[in-house]
Amino acid sequence: MTELQAASETAVGERSRDGYGDDRRRQGVIGRYAERLPLTAATPRITLNEGDTPCIESRSIVSTLGLGSLHFKFEGLNPTGSFKDRGMVVAVAKAIEEGSRAIICASTGNTSASAAAYAARFGLRAIVVVPSGKIAQGKLLQAQIYGAKVLAIKGNFDRALRAVRELCDRYPVTLVNSVNPYRIEGQKTAAFEIVDQLGDAPEVLAIPVGNAGNITAYWRGFREYHADGLCSRLPRMVGGQAEGAAPLVLGRPVERPRTVASAIRIGNPASWEQAIRARDESEGLIDSVTDGEIITAQRWLASAEGIFAEPASAASLAVLSKSVRAGLVPPGTHAVCVLTGNGLKDPDAARRDLAAPVPVDEDVENIARLLKL
Ligand SMILES: *Cc1c(COP(=O)(O)O)cnc(C)c1O
Repeated sequence: MTELQAASETAVGERSRDGYGDDRRRQGVIGRYAERLPLTAATPRITLNEGDTPCIESRSIVSTLGLGSLHFKFEGLNPTGSFKDRGMVVAVAKAIEEGSRAIICASTGNTSASAAAYAARFGLRAIVVVPSGKIAQGKLLQAQIYGAKVLAIKGNFDRALRAVRELCDRYPVTLVNSVNPYRIEGQKTAAFEIVDQLGDAPEVLAIPVGNAGNITAYWRGFREYHADGLCSRLPRMVGGQAEGAAPLVLGRPVERPRTVASAIRIGNPASWEQAIRARDESEGLIDSVTDGEIITAQRWLASAEGIFAEPASAASLAVLSKSVRAGLVPPGTHAVCVLTGNGLKDPDAARRDLAAPVPVDEDVENIARLLKL
């Protein structure tokens, strides 16, 4: 039994400390972590049952990498299939509290899917601005089916974000990108959950980095729990950017970000300074990985662990694997890999070079021969 597992056994009986286990009926990020979020008596306690995603223990990759333990925080099991729901529920609750009737976001896809779902459920108008032709099919479909007004802007995500920021300065719509501070507040609950689930913080947290809100949020969450004595250590934050969209690695914005991982195809992250601070304060690192490494990691997760995550999510495993090989993460490390979104959102990215279904007729003997049974 690993150290982390042993800790998690004892943690089960102690969950009441965070208000998680003593009242199982409390659901959603706001219901479970209200006292750690910037809520007032007037904030509506809304939820789509986001959060409480599993920390799946690695069965195979852990030993290939020689780690002490490895868990996958599978955020693809949130209601709209990505971690964006954690921050969106808080941002939407605060928008309702403030009397807002409409929310808007620029999005590489998942923020728009999440904004659209929460707006639909809680009676707000949702407007989403996406880079034209550059978002995954499933994500666009989500925004449309939830009833958002979808606008496609020429240019990349950074352009779209600039446009919606200006719109919000001048018109009565609430911005729900991660520059909205309630988004980061909601997203930090994922760090709480990891500690609540495993009994302590890991030694390394591997995470994809795009607009850099999530690495900011996790670092804040771990620090808050640590300050209150709820975890014994702080993890090193190990961030993964795509090689063609790696402003934080290069130290300068990227004019034309390029990568198969559309959720991290961002050239000028809004939370730039906070991400650098998370990296440095945690004695971690932010490195880039190639699209080839990302797709290899995505396949590895699916075929070795049975977990289908989207390409951006696989950047966390790719950077962890690269860091292990480079000796920057030592053997025996207790690591958690954040898998930010569900692979089903982006079938086109996953489909490349996969074997096509084999045509057969219903002749059982032929099928048996084919399968060498
Ligand atoms: C938004 C997103 C990211 C990037 O998160 P940031 O907070 O922008 O760094 C990574 N993966 C997925 C699936 C996402 O939706």
